[in-house]
Amino acid sequence: MTKSPIAFISGASRGIGAAIALRLADSGYDLWLNYHSAHDAAQALKDKIEEKGQGCLLLPFDVADEQAVSAALEPLLADEVPFAFIHNAGITRDTLLPLMRRAEWDTVLEVHLTGFFLLARLLSKFMVSKRKGRIIAISSVSGETGQAGQVNYSAAKAGLIGASKALARELARRNILVNVVSPGLIDTEMIKDVPLDKVLPMVPLNRVGTVEEVAGVVNFLLSPDAGYMTGQVIGVNGGLYI
Ligand code: NAP
Repeated sequence: MTKSPIAFISGASRGIGAAIALRLADSGYDLWLNYHSAHDAAQALKDKIEEKGQGCLLLPFDVADEQAVSAALEPLLADEVPFAFIHNAGITRDTLLPLMRRAEWDTVLEVHLTGFFLLARLLSKFMVSKRKGRIIAISSVSGETGQAGQVNYSAAKAGLIGASKALARELARRNILVNVVSPGLIDTEMIKDVPLDKVLPMVPLNRVGTVEEVAGVVNFLLSPDAGYMTGQVIGVNGGLYI
């Protein structure tokens, strides 16, 4: 029996990351799932993935902690190399810039950008040795247009787009494709404080998106059908940014 390919997802205990995990399990991937602290949610997700007949390894660590990243992944990578890495871990610390504390700037940049740097650096080294792989960064419409109250988050998400485009150029000759998925308003915990009555009129489709609608695009980008796509930013935003 051929072994299932592995997908490693950061920030996969809930929301978009969990939906990506379930979608990829349906496509026959085994999952390595990172998250920070939501152990019960992660365990419930692992159970669902195993019920689908796929393997699932839980890897709780802070993506911005270099030592934790190495300690969790290096022993695994000595044996097996994921085909796919999806950097989905994310947080918001929204406030207007004059009120933003240094810690609110640092922590958002660290989770999104430093997390991508640490994980993509390590995983791509091993993918290069296999001469195949796919890397996807989950950005945001805020990183494409800028969003008031989110100078930190918009900077981090725009940074992910630049980093992914540069990495796409570095890795293309090694048969590793790097793309960005950029969601708009998606129905998760992250948007629980967003005033939808004010925001939805700006969305041409006039609704929030579902986590499954993001997961489907990630699944496509990992498929053979997306074999000629690299360095691209794919919006999943209901037309919020066109
Ligand atoms: P969510 O429901 O808040 O889930 C965030 C995930 O990231 C959780 O699994 C969380 O783990 C994990 N995480 C947070 N900090 C971490 C850290 N330091 N190390 C490891 N894992 C960490 O968020 P979501 O809405 O699904 O968002 C997923 C991604 O999509 C994020 O990058 C977000 O910026 C992006 N996005 C979301 C929307 C939206 O409307 N929801 C729109 C555009 C972009 P724990 O559960 O253990 O804390």
